[in-house]
Amino acid sequence: MASEHWDALVLGGGVAGLSCATALAEAGSRVLVLEKGPALGGRARSFQDPETGLTWDNGPHLFSGRCHHILRFLKRLDRESRLVFPERLRMDFFDGKAADSLRIPATLGNRFGLLWAVWSLRGLGPGDKWGTLRLRRGLAAVDLAALAGITGRAWFDSMGQSRQVVERLLDPLSRILLNESSEKVSAAALAQTLRELILGGGDAMRLGWSSVPLSELYAEPARAYISARGGSVMLSTEVTRFVEDEGRVMGAADEWGQRFLADATVATLPPWELKRLAFPPRLKGPWEGLDSSAMGTVHIDFETPVLDVPVAAMTGTTASWVLARPGRTGTDQRLSLAVSAGRDVLKASDPAFFEAGRRDLAKCLPESQKARITGWKVAREPSARLSHPPGSEGFRPRPGRVLPGLSLAGDWTRTGFPASMESAAASGTRAAEELMERHA
Ligand SMILES: Cc1cc2nc3c(=O)[nH]c(=O)nc-3n(C[C@H](O)[C@H](O)[C@H](O)COP(=O)(O)OP(=O)(O)OC[C@H]3O[C@@H](n4cnc5c(N)ncnc54)[C@H](O)[C@@H]3O)c2cc1C
Repeated sequence: MASEHWDALVLGGGVAGLSCATALAEAGSRVLVLEKGPALGGRARSFQDPETGLTWDNGPHLFSGRCHHILRFLKRLDRESRLVFPERLRMDFFDGKAADSLRIPATLGNRFGLLWAVWSLRGLGPGDKWGTLRLRRGLAAVDLAALAGITGRAWFDSMGQSRQVVERLLDPLSRILLNESSEKVSAAALAQTLRELILGGGDAMRLGWSSVPLSELYAEPARAYISARGGSVMLSTEVTRFVEDEGRVMGAADEWGQRFLADATVATLPPWELKRLAFPPRLKGPWEGLDSSAMGTVHIDFETPVLDVPVAAMTGTTASWVLARPGRTGTDQRLSLAVSAGRDVLKASDPAFFEAGRRDLAKCLPESQKARITGWKVAREPSARLSHPPGSEGFRPRPGRVLPGLSLAGDWTRTGFPASMESAAASGTRAAEELMERHA
């Protein structure tokens, strides 16, 4: 059965798909988005608990202060004001025994403020702190290509970072920013992220979050934006193959054989989903070797605030970091504890997961035991983020046209950013701009 012909077909309704589809719709294209899930948002989405009616995100999502592509996407939807960025970086580090605080004082600029904040860390000795200056110098002169084949840990060692600095500061940052320990992650991906955060200056050092559930932030507004411009979004529609004619991709088809035809098709599925499709043999490539890392989340709502910084790293605990946001009433607080261990940990039952989260908090924030819990929820994402092992950067294809009629986008494409929401938005925008240039 053939359906109507569209200017563009976008496969996948996550950040990449929706940033691409809205950019095309803005330029006057009639776009059809096909999404296999029952809602838009992909790996950055929210969902409602049918029992309590409460809305939860699928996990804590941090936005870098330099997320220009995300901000451009949100601006298109008139939603950029929903992102909250604190003026100064404030982060706690818990190792189960002692807490340490990295706080940039309001009286200093970010650059000197960070030096001051590191110098003020109680858990590091003077030698450890001096050593971090070598890291800063190393980042300023870093050659990312030379780091592509080694782990973050090997790179830290080569710059003489002490075990204390790695364990208390750098490894926790690696888990927060890339969901993997520095022993596993490629030094290039880690250096790219740390360079932006530490040397980016000004906005870069501000880690922000959404003040509304992720679906409200961009997914539903994007659907309305596309529909208002003659496009459409089909949910619960799983694409199983591409439609080809004489070497050109003409569209895609779902499991029921329904065909969706368009002048151009943009696939924004992550690699582990894309390779499950029947795709043209010419699309085969090293990207098929890319894999994901898992993440679980325990959200806990407290009646009163229990953490006075937005982000805290945790070591020696099940969770590796926590995002603290104001709750619904303004006086309450939602803590989202991120568990970035292997997939096995996701097999725990919801109550066991919740109890592990509570134990972590009791260890790191004993005062939290006195605060009343008003709700909790567990979310599991077996394929949460792209894994960045050494050597994987070269497996990432560039976003944009790969075959006649077919473009790729998605956080995992080689955008110059580690796979993240910013990378997803950048890839979607690039794929859309390339199509618009071709048709100009
Ligand atoms: C728990 C968690 C926490 C995270 N925290 C952060 C963070 O703090 N900061 C950050 O920057 N990033 C974070 N990320 C990563 C971020 O969410 C992703 O990088 C980003 O959302 C990826 O967007 P995307 O559009 O490229 O891919 P996706 O969101 O995966 O979108 C692809 C879409 O395609 C759909 N699809 C798949 N197969 C088919 C098919 N056959 N037919 C039709 N549709 C299909 C999927 O359902 C999905 O909606 C986190 C991710 C998770 C899961």
